[in-house]
Amino acid sequence: MRRTTNACLTRANSLGLESTAEELIEVSSVEELMKSLAESPSATILGEGSNVVLHRHIRGRVIRVRIRGIALKRVNKSVYRVRVGAGERWNELVRCLLGRGIRGLENLSLIPGSVGAAPYQNIGAYGRELSPIVESVEVIDRLEMAIRTLSATECEFRYRDSVFKTDDPSRYVITHLNVITGDQAINSSYPDIDTELGRLGYDRSNPIHVANAVIRVRRRKLPDPRFIGNVGSFFKNPLLSLRAFEQLRGKIDVQGFEEGKLVKVSAARLIDASGWKGFQDGAVAVWHRQPLVLINTGGATASNVLGLAERIVDDVQRRYGVMLEREPIELGSP
Ligand SMILES: Cc1cc2nc3c(=O)[nH]c(=O)nc-3n(C[C@H](O)[C@H](O)[C@H](O)COP(=O)(O)OP(=O)(O)OC[C@H]3O[C@@H](n4cnc5c(N)ncnc54)[C@H](O)[C@@H]3O)c2cc1C
Repeated sequence: MRRTTNACLTRANSLGLESTAEELIEVSSVEELMKSLAESPSATILGEGSNVVLHRHIRGRVIRVRIRGIALKRVNKSVYRVRVGAGERWNELVRCLLGRGIRGLENLSLIPGSVGAAPYQNIGAYGRELSPIVESVEVIDRLEMAIRTLSATECEFRYRDSVFKTDDPSRYVITHLNVITGDQAINSSYPDIDTELGRLGYDRSNPIHVANAVIRVRRRKLPDPRFIGNVGSFFKNPLLSLRAFEQLRGKIDVQGFEEGKLVKVSAARLIDASGWKGFQDGAVAVWHRQPLVLINTGGATASNVLGLAERIVDDVQRRYGVMLEREPIELGSP
């Protein structure tokens, strides 16, 4: 267990916001995590910091879960059960499985962050989400101070959402993720990926080729947080009722994608049509290649970032009657 007081978190968040934690504890086992939570039940949990907006001072204890390990168990010729520690990097898991010829995670290549945070918002990209391959999630339940295993159903996965994000956001601390993967049909139909595969002459049924296409598209579209502070998409794609979608179509030509009884529309399209792409206000800006991404151009604060986000939300609401929802989590207080 590593303990630092007045720990600088500026390099521990991909937006590069200046932030300090009163106390930072890094734990590498369930026992250490349990002990640390017993001492400080309301501690803030931080992964790799790629989906958070950090305020300048975080009071109390911040815990970074560094539990490692990837354990594979073969179920049959192509299917594996995989148990992964929350502190592993997501993209390392994808690479590890693809390297062993195990498919299923190729569309989720290059998503930054830890394995522990992946179920928190049910990460997704290019036509795939984490949830279909989740068997269970191991947690410490802070209400009962007990180790529990939640089935996929109990995780209540939805689009960029789960019980971990909605129930009581601080109730569960994720220690391990259990997935079953290897027999899913390959999904290379997402337009950008399909075009990239065609352009490169790649095989649409080869998971490594799909992963490489995803990586190329992501590198082109998204700013690299090592050089430009960002958290990927800042807004979720809104889910509308059929009636609200028809009303929206009266105002703007926008595609809709069925999601059960709802229709998902592109938040990027609405932000772009409102004229925000490339907009800069001091130290924050809207990325010129992808209007869903807000960037720190240097020295931004959480208030700057959240302020710009609020202006965009208000403007889109006023023009189109659609309320955009924020994706990253705000940690600390102003
Ligand atoms: C360039 C870029 C591209 C991105 N692209 C995508 C994308 O395509 N799809 C996508 O879904 N996301 C994307 N993201 C967002 C981000 O990568 C994911 O949300 C990722 O899962 C966050 O992981 P993290 O470890 O950095 O979490 P953090 O940012 O550290 O934390 C996020 C939230 O999870 C909670 N949390 C973290 N670990 C645990 C744990 N062990 N137990 C309980 N709660 C925990 C934190 O308290 C916080 O509320 C992108 C981000 C960037 C910077």
